[in-house]
Parts: sequence; structure tokens; C-alpha cells
Amino acid sequence: MSNSNVTVCVRFRPLSHKERKANDKVCFKKLDSESFVFKDERDEDVIFSFDKVFYDDAEQSDVYNFLAVPIVADAVNGINGTIISYGQTGAGKTYSMEGPSILHCNELKTGLVQRVVNDLFECLRTSEDITTWTVKLSMVEIYLEKVRDLLDLSKDNLQIKESKSQGIFIYGATEISIMNSSDALERLSEGIANRAVGETQMNLASSRSHCVYIFSVQHGSTADDKVRAGKIVLVDLAGSEKVEKTGAEGRVLDEAKTINKSLSALGNVINALTTAKPNHVPYRDSKLTRILQDALGGSSRAALLCCCSPSSSNAPESLSTIRFGTRHI
Ligand code: ADP
Ligand code: MG
Repeated sequence: MSNSNVTVCVRFRPLSHKERKANDKVCFKKLDSESFVFKDERDEDVIFSFDKVFYDDAEQSDVYNFLAVPIVADAVNGINGTIISYGQTGAGKTYSMEGPSILHCNELKTGLVQRVVNDLFECLRTSEDITTWTVKLSMVEIYLEKVRDLLDLSKDNLQIKESKSQGIFIYGATEISIMNSSDALERLSEGIANRAVGETQMNLASSRSHCVYIFSVQHGSTADDKVRAGKIVLVDLAGSEKVEKTGAEGRVLDEAKTINKSLSALGNVINALTTAKPNHVPYRDSKLTRILQDALGGSSRAALLCCCSPSSSNAPESLSTIRFGTRHI
């Protein structure tokens, strides 16, 4: 376990039906719940270790319990937190975050977002010293370094600002007060539907943008008359796959370049944070890292879930995802 506030996990999804039919082989060898063997760039076996490795038998609840429970508990105490899913398209980022569907899935498959919401309200309701509370939801998408409001599509180029009282915030972004978890899930599904609408209009693929869910919590306590504020930011990142250099042009190339830039900015920020005494954390290098600035670093807690396909046909991309994760252990 690293001594920083960043937890790094790897999740291998099960082989898909298509991969099974194609007779794809599994590209890793499980050692234990923290390490596995994977062939490196020179085709040599290397042992990789993380805070936790989830294999195909891992339940959504296992992932949630390990990496999100401490973050929810902290948010209720006024400490910010971030949960990020990283990986190539098809590796299981959205499945981990939302399950097969944000609204309609059984308890077993429910994703991190819904579990965070459920637990957040449960904590607020059952905590004896919490007197009053509010929970607000914002949801944005970052595409080509532009921040688009998923709760109001007319706001398509929001700016990120910072103030003493609010910390980092997205200026003008819709903030909806949510009263309970079913209310929250309704609103989240509207945001997800809006994302699809915008994408169809602009002919985009959701895998090329970062989706950011922000839950802000404020509450008063009987212990003192201070108001505590904390937030949880969940990020379903754009696919990390490399775009063929030859042939890519126009928007595809612009997308690839900006995604690459923001993912390496994220890598550099996490790297600086996991270094003993960082003298400079380059938050301003991308919109993504700027939004995450006060939820990633300082006393905040962060979890990075590196999602991988288990198939040997995707081994180079999985290795690149694993390497992204190992930079931060
Ligand atoms: P990404 O968001 O990284 O592009 P998805 O989350 O959409 O990938 O996953 C790709 C496919 O694999 C989806 O059909 C999804 O339901 C399935 N899948 C991903 N992770 C799992 C898992 N842990 N268990 C079962 N199916 C999964
Ligand atoms: Mg996805």
C-alpha cells in the first residue's frame, strides 16, 4: 500500500462473449489479490502489484467496499474525494461506474455511482450529530478541453474558477439539490441521456470525452456550529487507447491529441502527489486536473481504478493501462 492518499487498483473484466467465441486467451496470470504476472514490452513475465486487483470473480460491491467506502465516510466529515476509472474503450470503466444501467439494474450489478449515492444519504440520515444537510449534484462532460453541462446542454463552454469559500468550482454549472437516492438516480439518468443526445447531434462517441459527476455535501452538526462541506467527484475517463497515427486526421486526430494530453496531465498530477514532497503539482495543465484540484491532493482521498480487458488480443493496451497505474504506487 502506498503511503499517499491515492489508492490504485486494477480490474480485469471477464472475457466477453465475442472474445470467448474467438477463442481469445487470458493475458495475465493471477498471483493473489494484490498482484499478477503480465508480459512486458519485451515479452518477459513481470509481476505487477497494486493496492488491490479485482479479477473476473469480483463483484461490484467488492470494488465499492475497497475503494469508495472510505471516500464516502470522509466526504461526510468534510473531506473531498475522487474516484476515477481509467482504461481503453471496452475495458469496463462505465460498467464499474454505472453498472449496466444507472436506473435499472439489480443490486449485484449496481455501479459505484449509485452505491456512493445510497451510502451518502444513509450516512447523513443515520449520523446522530448531523442536524441539517444538503446534497447537490452537478454533471459535466469534458470534450476537446471544453466543459459541457450535462444537466443543461445550452451551457457548452463552462469555465473553472476558484474562490476562498467554494474552492474549485465550475462557474455557472447546474447544481441540483437532491433529497434522496432515487431522486439522485433520476437526475443522473437525465444527465446520461443528455450526454447521448449531445453526442448524436455532434456525431461523437462517448468514449472520447471524460464524464464527471460531482456530489457536494454540506451539513451542520450538533457538536459545533460549523458547517462542513465535502465533495465526491467521480470520473469516467475517455478511452486511453492509442489512435493509429497513420490515417487519423481532422477531428479524430484532435480528439486523440487532447485526450492524450489530459490523461498525461492526470498522470503527472497523481505522480506529483505520490512523490514524497512535491514542489509543484501541475493542476493547470488540463481542464480535468483543474476540476479535480481540490478533490485530488492535500488531505483528499483518491482512488484510481485501472480497467483492463483480460484478452490477449488487447494485451498491449492493457499493459499501457497497467503501466499508467504503476506510476502511482
Ligand atoms: P468502457 O466504459 O471502458 O468503454 P464498458 O464499461 O462499456 O467499457 O464495458 C464494455 C462491455 O463489457 C460492456 O458490455 C459491459 O457490460 C461489459 N463489462 C465490463 N466490465 C464488466 C464486468 N466486470 N462484468 C461483466 N461485464 C462487464
Ligand atoms: Mg464507457
